[in-house]
Amino acid sequence: MHKVFASAPGKVNLALRVGPPRTDGFHPLDTIFEAVDVYESVSATYAPSEITVSVRGATQELPTDEQNLAVKAALVLRERFGGTAGAHLDLEKRIPVAGGMAGGSADAAATLVACNELWECEASQSDLLEIAGQLGSDVPFALLGGLAHGVGRGERLVPINADAHHFWVMITSPEGLSTPAVFAEFDQIMGYTRIPDTLVPDTLDLQRALAAGDSAAAISHMINDLEAPAFSLRPDLRDLMKSVEGRSAGHILSGSGPTIALLCDSLGAADSLANALRTENPEHGIIRANGPVAGARVTEAI
Ligand code: ATP
Repeated sequence: MHKVFASAPGKVNLALRVGPPRTDGFHPLDTIFEAVDVYESVSATYAPSEITVSVRGATQELPTDEQNLAVKAALVLRERFGGTAGAHLDLEKRIPVAGGMAGGSADAAATLVACNELWECEASQSDLLEIAGQLGSDVPFALLGGLAHGVGRGERLVPINADAHHFWVMITSPEGLSTPAVFAEFDQIMGYTRIPDTLVPDTLDLQRALAAGDSAAAISHMINDLEAPAFSLRPDLRDLMKSVEGRSAGHILSGSGPTIALLCDSLGAADSLANALRTENPEHGIIRANGPVAGARVTEAI
């Protein structure tokens, strides 16, 4: 194999419940992920030993060493399977950087499936999921896709079988939000310090509504505990959210923000809303997205 192309989807959290930080500093999560059809593309070209990366379409500069999640993913896969070959990774980004849609995790997931094929590692899906869990909380979901319930740091996943078709309009921001900064602000607002065995609010009502195909109930149970801290750090986001209230069936901050996700009743309603918002909010990016969609996959190998 000389060159492998792969893609992986971005995500929105239909619900994101956050508990107090554990003694290791991580926050226990209870979340419902949905993969949306905003895709990162990766091509992995065989190289004798080095792992290098180039990036196109990023909304801000990204690291090109092992700080880049795609490079890290290739390094961890190679170490695990004991190979010596390298790869040049070319990332084509469509997901805004630091936007709360897990673009870096999608790059890592696409890289894992691409390099698995390029280097003929023959890693199984469960091997890849395990490696993904070491790379970051959102990487396993970018591999899995669809709709899933996530607990732990979000890496322990159970797929949700639901006949859901969601039409989204994403309002992106020119400036990203740092996920660790939003969690730190969450602790500050809640008055939390590190405590062992902490409880996390659950997402059971939303899971039941999704399983029953009751979209009105599902929308009423959409909740994101990171909204308050994200709005505290970026009051402009609260204003933006207020300005679009009532324009769609539901709305939620995506992950740790700053992307705001509007859920519409139909494809037509989502298309019209996206067009209207493009005219009204020229300073923001507007992305039309549909979900749920499948996770990372190889699209071509030559
Ligand atoms: P999440 O929703 O998982 O918290 P996010 O969508 O808010 O993530 P990302 O774009 O995935 O944010 O990652 C943002 C940070 O990760 C930036 O500081 C960036 O420098 C770093 N990073 C490393 N590799 C990548 C990559 N391939 N793409 C984007 N960001 C990357």
